[in-house]
Amino acid sequence: MHANINNLFIFLSSHHKKLKSIFFSNITQTILFNSHRPVMATYPQPQVSSITSQMQQTNIGVVKPQRRTLGSAQVISNAVDEWSNSVLGKVFCPEILEVGEVRDEINAIWKKYKSKETKVMGPNLFVFNFSTTNDQEDIIKKSPWTVKGYLLAVEIYNPRIPLADIKFLHQNWTVKFRNLQLEHLNVSMIDEIIQDLGREKLEIDPPNAHPRIGRMVKARIRMELTSALKRGVWLRTTSGGEVWIKYHWEKQPYNLCDECFVIDHSDNNCEQVALQLQLDSMSAEEYDVWSREQEAENFLWWLRLEKITVMLT
Ligand SMILES: [Zn+2]
Repeated sequence: MHANINNLFIFLSSHHKKLKSIFFSNITQTILFNSHRPVMATYPQPQVSSITSQMQQTNIGVVKPQRRTLGSAQVISNAVDEWSNSVLGKVFCPEILEVGEVRDEINAIWKKYKSKETKVMGPNLFVFNFSTTNDQEDIIKKSPWTVKGYLLAVEIYNPRIPLADIKFLHQNWTVKFRNLQLEHLNVSMIDEIIQDLGREKLEIDPPNAHPRIGRMVKARIRMELTSALKRGVWLRTTSGGEVWIKYHWEKQPYNLCDECFVIDHSDNNCEQVALQLQLDSMSAEEYDVWSREQEAENFLWWLRLEKITVMLT
């Protein structure tokens, strides 16, 4: 015990004066309380553990280098608020675009929005800050946008969400359905078409799917960027036939794969998606012809395989 106390004493001497005073006050209190005892060595000495405990209670431990950061919560919060009218945008281009080019084009297409500021956040990733919430909301409402012919996907920027956690999976989009017949001017029918697109409906224009003039209905949908911008669909008619309903995607980017029409393009899926789009666009007669051709091709392929097998055996 003496050895321990001595070691601690040396340690304290080399450290903090306050530590020493705690140590001595501890001992002094013990001595005063037990002053009727003649020999100090015969009564309990202050325990190392009790001193350590007191050191911890007074928040005075061994001085250890600490990592330091700056930025009070209030300052950070105020700074973030300056970006509360911002929009996060990502250009879906396979190459990294020059920042200057993007900025020039954005300034041209958004020239009516004053006092905006552009910040580059990563490859083809930008934050656009607007002076008012109205401007910010207008940008989202009028989406999609394009830069250099590629989609500029936009969404409200929340600076409290780390950029790494933000995935551009959707884009609000307006699609027009042309060539609808009278039996198709019905909300349930339009809902079925939107469901076929596999997307969430935001609104239909007009809401009752009965346009005052003509037979065109528009829908605002939340479009998945890994899905194809389908060209149209065949709808059955009351006369027992079918009619091709053509889709028109407003502000469709012109730099888009003309095989699969997928914004977030993948070479691995392109061929398969393109084939499905091709089949969906065929009339019943065209599909019959295509099916027969496929069967004939498969038969020839089988014959060739048989011939090779016979030659080898
Ligand atoms: Zn493709």
